[in-house]
Amino acid sequence: KCSSLGSAASSEDTDSPPSTADRSGVPEACEKQPSLKPAKEHVIPKDCDQVLENKVLEMLPGSQHVSTAVVKTISLKEKFPGENIVSQSFSSHSDLIPGVYEGGLKIWECTFDLMTYFTKAKVKFAGQKVLDLGCGSGLLGITASKGGAREVHFQDYNGLVIDEVTLPNVVANVPLQGDSNGINEPAGKRQRKSEVAQETCKCRLFSGEWAEFCKLVLSEKLFVKYDLILTSETIYNPDYYSTLHETLLRLLSRNGRVLLASKAHYFGVGGGVHLFQKFVEEKGVFETRTLEVC
Ligand code: SAM
Repeated sequence: KCSSLGSAASSEDTDSPPSTADRSGVPEACEKQPSLKPAKEHVIPKDCDQVLENKVLEMLPGSQHVSTAVVKTISLKEKFPGENIVSQSFSSHSDLIPGVYEGGLKIWECTFDLMTYFTKAKVKFAGQKVLDLGCGSGLLGITASKGGAREVHFQDYNGLVIDEVTLPNVVANVPLQGDSNGINEPAGKRQRKSEVAQETCKCRLFSGEWAEFCKLVLSEKLFVKYDLILTSETIYNPDYYSTLHETLLRLLSRNGRVLLASKAHYFGVGGGVHLFQKFVEEKGVFETRTLEVC
C-alpha cells in the first residue's frame, strides 16, 4: 500500500478496488459516474442520546491518535428487516444501500495514514474551518474538531452513511454546540459543561454528490470557504476528477490547503495518486506536493 498526501494552495478565491484482494466495500457501481444525487443537510438531532441507541462504540487503538470512539456495530434491522446486526466491516452489505454506494461504511486505510500524518507533522486545526470530503466514518473531521477547529463540515455521497456512521461518531466524540446546557443539572456539573462549551465546534453534515453539495453550500448567503479540506480514498475513479477538482476550487479559501490521502493506484477502476496529481497539474490552478509516501 502506498499513500501520498498532496498539499494544494488555491490561487482563486472563489473508490476501485484498492487491490483485487481488498476490493470489498468500494462499489462495483463506481465504475460509472454517480448520478447527480441531490445534496441535503442532515440536521443533528437535539436529543443526541437517541443517535447512539443500538450502536456499539469502541475506542480506536493506537496511542498516536487522539482517543476516538467509533461505531463498531449498527443495527440495520429496522431499516432492512431480516438482516442481522452488521459489524464495522460493512463491505458485504453494500447491496443494502439503494442506488450507488461509494464505500463510506468502512474505514479505509488512508484515513489512518492521514491521521498518523496529522500527528507526525503537527497539523494545526485550531480556529480553522474544515471540510471532511467523502467522510465515511468522519474520523478526519473529528480529529480536526478535537484539535480545535472552529467549524467542521462532513460530506458523504450516501445519506445512510451520514445517519448511521458519521453522525453517531460525531456525537460520540465532539462536544457539540447546542448540547443541553444542563439547566436542570447540579451546579458542579453545569460548570463543567460550560467549560466544555467553550471548546465546542460547530459541526454540520451533508450527503449528496459533490457538484450538488457545492451548489447547496454556496447558495448560503453567508457561506465562508474552507481553510482546510481533508479527504481520504476519494480519487479512485478518474470519471470524478473534474467534479472533484471543481469542488476543491469552489470551496477552498484563497490561502486554503487540501490534505489528500490515497493509494498509488486502484486496480480495476484506474485512479490513484499519480493520475490525480497529473490531472491537477494540467489544470494549473493548484500547487501540489507529495508530503509522505507510506
Ligand atoms: N474517506 C473515507 C475513508 O477513508 O474511510 C471514505 C472513503 S470511500 C472509499 C469514498 C468516499 O468518497 C465515499 O464515502 C463517498 O462519500 C465519497 N465520494 C466518492 N465519489 C463521490 C462523488 N462523486 N460525490 C460525492 N461523494 C463521493
